[in-house]
Amino acid sequence: MSVLDSMEAYLASDDYQNALQAPDVEPLRQYYYVGVLRKLRAQKEEQLGHPLYACTKTFGCQMKARDSEKIEGILKSAGYHLTEKEEEADVIIYNTCTVRENANTRVYGRLGYLNSLKKKKPHLMIILCGCMMQEAHVVEKIQKSYRFVDLIFGTYNVYQLAELMVRRMQSKKMVVEIWNKELGIVEELPTERKYSFKSGVNIMFGCNNFCSYCIVPYVRGRERSRDPKEIVEEVKRLADDGVVEIMLLGQNVNSYGKGLAEPVSFAQLLRMVSEVEGIKRIRFMTSHPKDLSQELIDAMAELPKVCKHLHLPVQSGSSRILKQMNRHYTKEQYLDLVKRLREAIPDISLTTDIIVGFPGETEEDFEETIDVVKQVEYDSCYTFIYSKRTGTPAAKMENQVPEDVIKDRFSRLLKVVGESSEKRTGLHLGQTVSVLVEEPNEQDDAMVTGRMDNNLLVHFRGGKRLIGQIVDVQLIECRGFYYIGELVLEN
Ligand code: SAH
Ligand code: SF4
Repeated sequence: MSVLDSMEAYLASDDYQNALQAPDVEPLRQYYYVGVLRKLRAQKEEQLGHPLYACTKTFGCQMKARDSEKIEGILKSAGYHLTEKEEEADVIIYNTCTVRENANTRVYGRLGYLNSLKKKKPHLMIILCGCMMQEAHVVEKIQKSYRFVDLIFGTYNVYQLAELMVRRMQSKKMVVEIWNKELGIVEELPTERKYSFKSGVNIMFGCNNFCSYCIVPYVRGRERSRDPKEIVEEVKRLADDGVVEIMLLGQNVNSYGKGLAEPVSFAQLLRMVSEVEGIKRIRFMTSHPKDLSQELIDAMAELPKVCKHLHLPVQSGSSRILKQMNRHYTKEQYLDLVKRLREAIPDISLTTDIIVGFPGETEEDFEETIDVVKQVEYDSCYTFIYSKRTGTPAAKMENQVPEDVIKDRFSRLLKVVGESSEKRTGLHLGQTVSVLVEEPNEQDDAMVTGRMDNNLLVHFRGGKRLIGQIVDVQLIECRGFYYIGELVLEN
């Protein structure tokens, strides 16, 4: 029985109809609150004379996007219509990120706008959740200066959304429910997938690495791996539901399985997931170089469903800075890893994350980073300006690099990164490759857009009925970072 069917069966049962209060056990407790929220929503719709819309905005990483799918699943089950337009919504949820300061600034900036919407539409419910809400100083500031916010919750209790919305509707004042650790994982709730044919799957939560610049371990807690059987079951359910591509998600997937009653390595998990019928492509992120084993390289080389793409954040090319960052590898070890990867999987596409301007970074350190980019020849790089995060060891380090120096280094880095991407992208010209068709082309109605195994985008002439299919496409023109292709064969 699907999760949705189980929930509906409970809501139709005498147990729910006769219940005087919410059950204590999950997920029944949340099913119960979805039922209550349905009734409250219907009453409100009757009062207002129109259906209620909910809008979720996601800031940040793939794991956050997955949480938003859970949020939308709950809202849809409670009968809300989903919209991307904030102006049209009766409930607005911001699922926030706090990895860099500018993510926080953006949210504060948008809150003023939400206040103006609420003035026009007093019943508008404003909800904030996600990593930023795990920081005490943020919650204090919102409670003090943004009193129009209705509900705040954190990263550990997303599954409680219906319960918390009901509490807000019944209490008439701001509800704040932040936990500082996980009190149980509830996965058996409906999710609203953004794409019908691909999905993220959480394999672990939190992070134990404490890179000295990073706030993630403080807002997402200690590393916990999900049971491999549960993961495989989830992947099977997704495959039954038409999903062909999955992305296994974790802050450091290479350390998957530590701490389980029967430890399983990430390479072993990949093999288990590979056996699920119907799944055609498997991706994963993120990999920490310090934990990337030869066993995983071998599994990637051997398993045909595993995409030949690896996101391997280097952060800096200077061994001295890497030590200060608490990354546990040197420039030489990283380059050796890349060499072994390219030997085992010659056509592998490598991408990375780089931070510019970590405290104490000298011109020589920065040149080491440039050198790594030139040597590795990444397909693409996510480049970040160092952002000081309160509470992390790096925030207290002396020698913070001046802004003008960082800006100059950043633009020099972008140039080298651009050259390397262009060179790599061009390598496939003329080849026929398999492409998972993802969406209609934004600019041209007669075209669709899809992704190659190595994550590069291809636009080609084709109908919308191809969406969700894997087709063969010949790459006829390279336009810098993407291709124009021609449909060869529908598989
Ligand atoms: N767990 C992943 C990445 C999580 S955060 C990993 O270890 O690779 C995503 C990226 O944001 C990081 O790889 C890093 O490059 C960047 N980042 C994290 N904290 C940052 C900070 N304080 N300033 C600038 N960039 C940061
Ligand atoms: Fe942050 Fe490092 Fe953990 Fe990645 S591995 S989430 S960068 S602490």
